[in-house]
Amino acid sequence: MVSLLDPVRLHADAAPRSVAIRGAREHISYEGLLESSLRFASILNAQGVAPGERVVLIAPSVPAYVVAYLGIQAAGCVVVPMNTMSTSEEVSYVLRDAQASLVIAWHEASAPARKAAAADGPPVVTLVHGMWEALPLAAPVDRDPDDTAAILYTSGTTGRPKGAELTVANILSAAQISVECSNGTPDDRIGTGLPLFHIFGQISVMMASLTTGSSLHLVAPFTPEAMIDAIRTHRLTIVAGVPTMWNAMLRSSKGEDGSGFGHIRLAVSGGAPLPAPVAQAFESRFGCELLEGYGLTETTSQGTFNGQGGIRKTGSAGRPVPRTAVEVRSETGSPLDPGEVGEVYISGPSVMKGYWRRPEATAQALVDGWLRTGDLGMVDQDGDLFIVDRLKDLIIRGGYNVYPGEVEEILYEHPHIVEAAVVGVPDEHYGQEVAAVIVLDRPAAVTGPEITAWARERMSAYKIPRLVRFVEALPKGPSGKILKRTIDTNRFRQPA
Ligand code: ATP
Repeated sequence: MVSLLDPVRLHADAAPRSVAIRGAREHISYEGLLESSLRFASILNAQGVAPGERVVLIAPSVPAYVVAYLGIQAAGCVVVPMNTMSTSEEVSYVLRDAQASLVIAWHEASAPARKAAAADGPPVVTLVHGMWEALPLAAPVDRDPDDTAAILYTSGTTGRPKGAELTVANILSAAQISVECSNGTPDDRIGTGLPLFHIFGQISVMMASLTTGSSLHLVAPFTPEAMIDAIRTHRLTIVAGVPTMWNAMLRSSKGEDGSGFGHIRLAVSGGAPLPAPVAQAFESRFGCELLEGYGLTETTSQGTFNGQGGIRKTGSAGRPVPRTAVEVRSETGSPLDPGEVGEVYISGPSVMKGYWRRPEATAQALVDGWLRTGDLGMVDQDGDLFIVDRLKDLIIRGGYNVYPGEVEEILYEHPHIVEAAVVGVPDEHYGQEVAAVIVLDRPAAVTGPEITAWARERMSAYKIPRLVRFVEALPKGPSGKILKRTIDTNRFRQPA
């Protein structure tokens, strides 16, 4: 019998006073976290929520989030974390789909949940820091390793969001893998601006930090300045984020002098491709290694990690993490040779149980224990994985495959380009045309035709972005990922 509280219990015994979680206002020790979680569980008991039932959690990255997450586990229930930006319609969809028995919503983000639950939804409990202090300690409920501990909704490759069912064993093994990849120790002080409702922050950072017994510093909401301040004030040793965060930190005048960063030993990047120029600039400014990992909600964040055993290749997402295998397969599912591009498959202890109440989608995604990722990639002779793109983002121009990530990588080398997203636009002649949406460092620093001409010298003719549009900012998801599917492909003008 196991529980996600096991690592917390271990460190509460070994180092009760050491800081487990630090937010902007409060912090909580390992002993305090264990006790608070058991008190929190009594809220679920009082509401009559039985083990195995689903509890939706809507909260920003504050210490109370961690208490509620573990309190839900202590009661033997399944946590369903949701984005704090969710609308009442989105909450309503998840409440119905997950057949949730209770909602726990942060006091400043509870309005959509209340609206969604008003008609015939479950009760909504308002989350405030310390609300559990006067409550009795609940007797913790242990689970079976294969019991579902969390359901995370993800759009996956198609259709409406589906709930990826992650078991207790999935989460404990994924957290342990992250600890091994970062060589974590209880002396580490980890900082992140990632949302804890997303798989990356929740497992590779929050659960991994609790597994190591290190302290986790939450920077919420993320701003580059707040992150840089936290690094200096709390002498952080590891920072975890997505590429847009590294980019923002590089553009902040606060870190320009490069001082006060001596203690950082590692920055961990994930969630989206890390452009090589961003990695290089970050490493030289902050004086630490910036290593990239690759994973999905469906694999409890695990897949590959660059830098294992001191080996690292620019542009690669690295080798399979411990106890995990990665294969690249053709459209018919047969394994491809090194150097060939195909769909990436992953197997290992952190691959999800399936999609909640979606047997068909589960059967499509899981093939003999392997997860089809929907990502295109290539493994080289040494076994290093290169993510080429998402299968659904692939552009086919006049019969030639154009991988947007490859074009973006080159665009990032342009001195005035801060961010770029390359998408396919319907075209009568070629089927699709290559288009780029670009954020410049200053307005009108360069024109669309100039970008096209610049690209012409650096890539094959069929890859050149012939359509260029400038925007002030690119649409981003909650974890900071650029949301290509929301880019309006009708709004491109042919450059003069
Ligand atoms: P949503 O559920 O909001 O649609 P999503 O489809 O991005 O999000 P996630 O599980 O959050 O789902 O992200 C997994 C995807 O992120 C992977 O399938 C891959 O496309 C991308 N990804 C993650 N890490 C990397 C990386 N290091 N390099 C390239 N792509 C990455």
